Amino acid sequence: MTFTTRFAPSPTGPLHLGHAYSALLAWDMAQRHGGTFLLRIEDIDRTRARPEWEAQIHDDLTWLGLHWPQPVMRQSDRMDVYADALDALWARGLLYPCDCSRRDITEALSAPQEGALPTGPDGLIYPGTCRSKNRFRYSASIERPRDRTLRLTVDRAVSSLAAPQPDGQIRLGFAETGTGPAGQGGEIALFAAEIARNIGDIVLARRDMGTSYHLSVVLDDAAQGITDVVRGQDLFETTEIHVVLQSLLKLPTPRYHHHELIRDDAGKRLAKRDDARALTKYRAEGATPQDIRRMVNLPLITAA
Ligand code: GLU
Repeated sequence: MTFTTRFAPSPTGPLHLGHAYSALLAWDMAQRHGGTFLLRIEDIDRTRARPEWEAQIHDDLTWLGLHWPQPVMRQSDRMDVYADALDALWARGLLYPCDCSRRDITEALSAPQEGALPTGPDGLIYPGTCRSKNRFRYSASIERPRDRTLRLTVDRAVSSLAAPQPDGQIRLGFAETGTGPAGQGGEIALFAAEIARNIGDIVLARRDMGTSYHLSVVLDDAAQGITDVVRGQDLFETTEIHVVLQSLLKLPTPRYHHHELIRDDAGKRLAKRDDARALTKYRAEGATPQDIRRMVNLPLITAA
């Protein structure tokens, strides 16, 4: 299969050096493999996505010397695809509505324990408050509620995935061609029971969005035929969520290449609002794309 990768920014702020690194690295890898580099606009958060940021993304990436096939995939055009996947999971009895606020969740988690609250790759691990309550009220035979937050019944989902091995374990995994934050690489094995504990009942549809980052990203990577996901190490831990969803939805699992994050002088990773390192600022100061490559330690492009 031809190497196909993507850069998938959310148009919620300016691209900074960290984005430039991710996009250039993905581009360079695609060139080296004689493959394809795609752009995808992750704009499911309609309250934060802005057309002007999207236009700026196109402009900055073109300035960096990148190009990509048209049309560009935009998540806001794919709400029907996400809804169909949610319908299918709902019909399998793997989702339930949740009405908890963040505060409800924090309070429920604080009650039985002191100290740090249990967190996973998607934030606080849901204590399951609405699980029995709502699974009793909403069965898979009734229509999926459209305007509610929906969570995945994760232990049920993972145990439906594959036959246990002779040792009683259900195994999943993915190939890491880069490195995780703790130096993880190569074939990463995931065990169903641990996954369920690590991620808890994650949200697959947010009431205000009708989908979620995790659901959309796996459906889109599959639809775009992505063979290699290149992205920052901050998303390494979420890969176990993505692998579970790929298995549940019978989608292929791509290879993953997680890369180091670009940090500021104090060692903090750059955030969206870190305008100080926005590409537009460097451009306005007269930097060239080669200067950007130098700043993020990527090989310079030599004239052919
Ligand atoms: N849209 C995500 C972001 O801007 C990237 C998602 C991904 O690469 O999987 O951080």
